[in-house]
Amino acid sequence: MSQTITVHHGDAEVQLHAGTTALQALKALEAIRGAVVAAEVTTTDGARSEWDLDRPVPDGAALTPIYADTDQGRAILRHSTAHLMAQAVTDLFPNAKWAIGPPIEDGFYYDFDVAAPFTPDDLERIEARMHELARERQRYVREEVPKEAARQEFADQPYKVEIIDLVDDGTILSAVDTAAPDAPDGDTGGDPAAEPTFTVYRNVRDLDDGSTEVAWSDLCRGPHVPSTERIPAFKLLRSAGAYWRGREDQPMLQRIYGTAWESKKALQAHLDLIEEAKKRDHRKLGRDLELTHHPDELGPGLSIFLPNGALVRKQMEDWIRDETLARGYQPVYTPHIAKEDLWRISGHLENYAELMYPGMELDDAGAAYRLKPMNCPFHILAFTSRTRSYRELPLRISELGTVYRYERSGVVNGMLRARGFTQDDSHIFCRADQVVDEVVGCIEFARDLYAAFGLGEPSRVAVSTRPDAKSIGTDEQWDYAEQALMAAAERSGYDYQIDAGEGAFYGPKIDIHARDAIGREWQLTTIQVDFNLPERFDITYVGDDGERHRPFMVHRALFGSIERFFAVMVESFNGAFPTWLAPEQVRVLPVADEFDGYATEVAQRLRAAGVRVHVDLADATLGNRIREAQTSKVPYTLVVGGSEAEARTVAVRPYQGDQRKDVDLDVFVAEVAAEIATKGLDRPVDRAAGSGAGA
Ligand SMILES: [Zn+2]
Ligand SMILES: [Zn+2]
Repeated sequence: MSQTITVHHGDAEVQLHAGTTALQALKALEAIRGAVVAAEVTTTDGARSEWDLDRPVPDGAALTPIYADTDQGRAILRHSTAHLMAQAVTDLFPNAKWAIGPPIEDGFYYDFDVAAPFTPDDLERIEARMHELARERQRYVREEVPKEAARQEFADQPYKVEIIDLVDDGTILSAVDTAAPDAPDGDTGGDPAAEPTFTVYRNVRDLDDGSTEVAWSDLCRGPHVPSTERIPAFKLLRSAGAYWRGREDQPMLQRIYGTAWESKKALQAHLDLIEEAKKRDHRKLGRDLELTHHPDELGPGLSIFLPNGALVRKQMEDWIRDETLARGYQPVYTPHIAKEDLWRISGHLENYAELMYPGMELDDAGAAYRLKPMNCPFHILAFTSRTRSYRELPLRISELGTVYRYERSGVVNGMLRARGFTQDDSHIFCRADQVVDEVVGCIEFARDLYAAFGLGEPSRVAVSTRPDAKSIGTDEQWDYAEQALMAAAERSGYDYQIDAGEGAFYGPKIDIHARDAIGREWQLTTIQVDFNLPERFDITYVGDDGERHRPFMVHRALFGSIERFFAVMVESFNGAFPTWLAPEQVRVLPVADEFDGYATEVAQRLRAAGVRVHVDLADATLGNRIREAQTSKVPYTLVVGGSEAEARTVAVRPYQGDQRKDVDLDVFVAEVAAEIATKGLDRPVDRAAGSGAGA
């Protein structure tokens, strides 16, 4: 082996002595521009991996810093904090067995097998202990350990032993936080035929006498920050039960959620966002504003739209129905159940059964029936109702179709992840050469929809490619469909990213995300290219050559789920819908009962102009009724008394904005009618204090 190595960063190249760490190499390359937590190292064979800063780099490596204030850097920071938390838990609960602790969006968790669930007091003690440990500046030290030695070291940690065995047989190689057999390092050399090694990270304490002591060890793939003092800000949030490996036949563990950030300021902004999101929770606002109802006896993930919510939903449905017709879609209606035969042909029973409600055995039907988890097979039956000609393509079939999916109770989340929901679902049957145009049309349609409903421009467009496991279709089919989606994303003008392996089992997809008023990102629209169902159902069209050809099928739902989009809007608008969407647009308040007559006349004028209006007659004080209108977030409250009745005017109190007196009734009616007709979004979005966090 040579005594010197060459490393790169961009065009820069330096020669260093063998054994130089990633941090030393980055410094020598003058590559560091901020707080760095780890390095990304590309070896000469092209393999790229995240690398501990104090780990020696191999000869020929190209290095890039991973900064603390990036998604990648935060994941490393959070994961390092998860180790710190597990160390604190095992200090305070010596019998705890620890399982896994990955970073997640905005934070991390770690699962523990403990005698009793953690209490809020426990979380405080654990967090205090974490701060003590962090101040000790413990180093995260990486060590490669052969399998047997790893099994012995963690012999009293059954979950770790299980992970070691699962990793070894390849079952969970892709798990986020498990030790993966390590690629041979440039600095150690490696025999590919040798027993795979596992990596163990030890939190090492430096003692006053110059010696060191291992404070805690975990089996982990890494990397981590170099030392606990490099975790600037963290907070434990809550705990909840969670099954080991997410399976109900496995032990129930206790999961502690926390968050960690690159600065105290970023942490505080995130905590403010959590508070703000709690205030805006669609279940809470749904109850307060009588939009929706989710009683226990209904079942989780199912919703009743009360009249206020139903009026908002009707606007959404009217908008999408009108727009689909204007864009050349053809409406259909289809049932909620179908014979199992249909789901057998479609492949759902084979590939999707765990999300389907069980079959309904009916005595006289001679077959079991299933609730529909998707609308696609029904739209295929609409397509195959007669012979189709190439002249009819693209044929765009459209429906607001209600589907039922048996989501695990642990993942059901109000209307955001429901068991019963309605998709604005369309299936476009087209020729191969029409796929790109159709997908571009869908992306543009989604953009118009977000703009109409106050979510602005799409924030993220992602193309999901073929999943590793459980997918059907040939390589050529996947390649064609993936290329078509990328070409469409390209043409629509959005910067798109690739979510490798995140496609559906039957084809790749484009996901489109949008940001709400407090900066949270939501995945809403999905557009999928499918070559599988046309084959399974053997659907064809007659081409201009008189022969039968197989069409492509594009699935797309723009709202995604009406319920989910509704919930996102409720939280984004904080329940204060723009006038065109508001269930009640104007409330009229007579100052005393002698003006009930004029108030009623004002309401009639508005109603005749298509405004949703309500008169709150004078049986409570005016002050109380004004507060009530404010609490209900009605866009406009009109107050009328003697002078208004005489001059045929109104006093206008908008939900937000300046009050106006003596507004001519005709002028107000024309104004509000125009605002509704143009589906105006000018009404200021209800941003409570602190809501700028995270935006
Ligand atoms: Zn780790
Ligand atoms: Zn579909």
